[in-house]
Parts: sequence; C-alpha cells; structure tokens
Amino acid sequence: MQSLGFATGADVAVATLYCCECNLCTMYACPEDLDPKTVCVQNKPLARERGLTFKGDPASITPHPLAEFRRVPMRRLIAKLGLGEFNNVGPLKEHVFSPRTVNVLLKQHAGLPAVPVVKSGDRVRVGDLLAVPQQGKLGARVHASIDGVVKVTDDAVIIEA
Ligand code: SF4
Repeated sequence: MQSLGFATGADVAVATLYCCECNLCTMYACPEDLDPKTVCVQNKPLARERGLTFKGDPASITPHPLAEFRRVPMRRLIAKLGLGEFNNVGPLKEHVFSPRTVNVLLKQHAGLPAVPVVKSGDRVRVGDLLAVPQQGKLGARVHASIDGVVKVTDDAVIIEA
C-alpha cells in the first residue's frame, strides 16, 4: 500500500498482478485497517491496459526466506474475524441425506441457462447429463444428483426418485 501510494514506478503496478485475492491483507494483516486486496483488484485491469507484465525469469523466483515464519495462526485468524462462536471442533456427525425430489436449476453458473437434453418422463441415474450450454455461449453442463424420473420446466429439471 505504501509503495502504491508513494511510488509511481511500473514495477509497483506490476506487483499487483501477482495478488491471488486471498484477502488476508485486508481481513487480517493490515495494521491500518486498509483494503490492499481491493487496491490490487482495481489495479490489475489498469496494469494490463498499460501492457505491464512480468518481464523476469519465473525460475528465478524463490520464496521469501522468512516465509515459514509468516504463516497466519488459524486461532488468531478465527478470533480476528469474529468467528470463534462458529468454530466447530467436532466430532462431526455422519448424516445420510436422501431427498425424494430435487429441483436442478438450469442456471447455476455464469453465462446463460443450460438447455435440457432430457424430456419429461425420462429416467436418469445420478451423474447423468441433464442439460448442456447453449451453442457457442458461456454456460455449464448440469447433471443429475439422484436417480429418478424427470420433469422439465422452464428453469429447472425436477427429478423424483
Ligand atoms: S495482496 Fe492481499 S489479497 Fe493479494 S495475495 Fe497478498 S495478502 Fe492476498
């Protein structure tokens, strides 16, 4: 943040491209309660527009020598985020969930709704393909989550076991 605020060199702007947006700096590490992650996110398209890219040798990159000592203690992170009351230490319980009906939406993703490849009355098995992306458009394949008989509606494929 200091570098971005007080320096104008391309190296500093390029450095934001390496941000994986983990949000650790914003939610945990910044002592000033600033938002470095968002700064990186907003700077990335600007850096790309200006044609700024990493010019070095990727093989020359090595972890910081103190990386091992910079890990975030999970207990501190949970405390800082105020998640202590939700920290389930177990034991976890096995629960078998067997719904008789599922409503599988045709749009569960970026892009356009998927197009059904099944018709009402078809019998499907778990994992079978129910719908595919529209030709040439962004979308995702949709699969059956249970065995059963399908009913196709405008926005979903309903499966009854
Ligand atoms: S700048 Fe912040 S959000 Fe980006 S990788 Fe580093 S810690 Fe994560």
